[in-house]
Amino acid sequence: MRTRLCLLTICAAISIVITPMCSCAQDPAVPHEPVLVRVAVVKGADSVKIFIAGNFKIVDYISKTVLLEEKYLPETDLTATDTGFGLEGKEFGACVISLEPVGGSRVYINGRIFRGEIRVFKDVSKLVVVNTVDLEEYLYGVMRNEVSTWWPMEALKAQAIAARTYALNQINESKGKDYDVTADVGSQVYGGIFSEKWRTNRAVDETRDKVLTYNGAIFPAFFHATCGGSTFDADYLWNIDLPVLKGVKCRWCRKSPHFNWEKWMPVKEVEQKFAAAGYFVGDIIGFEATKRDPFSARILELKIKGSKGDAPILAKDFRRIIGADIVRSTNFKVTLVGEYVAFEGLGWGHGVGLCQWGAYYMSRAGKKASEILDFYYPGSKLTDYKDVK
Ligand SMILES: [Zn+2]
Repeated sequence: MRTRLCLLTICAAISIVITPMCSCAQDPAVPHEPVLVRVAVVKGADSVKIFIAGNFKIVDYISKTVLLEEKYLPETDLTATDTGFGLEGKEFGACVISLEPVGGSRVYINGRIFRGEIRVFKDVSKLVVVNTVDLEEYLYGVMRNEVSTWWPMEALKAQAIAARTYALNQINESKGKDYDVTADVGSQVYGGIFSEKWRTNRAVDETRDKVLTYNGAIFPAFFHATCGGSTFDADYLWNIDLPVLKGVKCRWCRKSPHFNWEKWMPVKEVEQKFAAAGYFVGDIIGFEATKRDPFSARILELKIKGSKGDAPILAKDFRRIIGADIVRSTNFKVTLVGEYVAFEGLGWGHGVGLCQWGAYYMSRAGKKASEILDFYYPGSKLTDYKDVK
């Protein structure tokens, strides 16, 4: 965990322990009644565009001092300064500020509106914006980005329960950290109010507080777009050895638009990508899958063969380096064809847990959300969050 100290009004992230004039530690523990989730909606930014349509206050989050109170803020860049934050030529000496709408105003962050509280702090010299929001309202802003609103309600409900369980697991694992989840594919894609749709909101409402447990505990209920025939054991990817996250054979996603894929890339571009990542093999002359998961057939390890030697590489690193949208899963074949590299494979995503397109076709076949979840998370129990604590 990072330590932040505030010396007079000068804020800096430092790693040595000195006697502070005042503490600038992040958040006190977030209360879990109601359940709140802290979402990093901006990370590592030099500036953030703020627009506030109506009355607002900017408040020092630690001392609760009101730093600015105005009736309207045209779109303006909020920047990090040595002593705090800059906005429209004004400078606020604070470690953490909160942007507080008054009387129904809306705060836009980089063009998006969020429910709940907005606070801004610095990670060294970069801005981090965290939206603290009720878990159920957070899910409103997640669902549309993960599945289509027109999907059958039972598939949407299964997705809502998986997303809620995943988020609760993140909250449990991030105690003492600055935020629980990011708003991108690193966690779950969250777009705030503009992402909300009535059918996905309804799926959240109809499953309110419903979560999955394994042996009485919340677990990371991962999900992905399409498994391509078998889901993947989380132990291979993240060293999570849980029976509920082992692979299952899935026949449901065969009609998914992502079941098969094929991509081509010039070999020179592939060589550049590997060289930039520290894999220097000279001219690529071929590839060899050296280790596969016998259950799902996903590649675990490969060898990049080159004119200057071979380089072993994990399949998950291979996918990340080439691009997760190019090599859409680790269940793939890679071949050198003249001046090009051909990638062909099955499924889209990491493959662990719920297969979203499988869930779609299961619901089309009349399966309930509980049956879908039971299939993809074997041994899990559908329960009320209040009974877990
Ligand atoms: Zn599937």
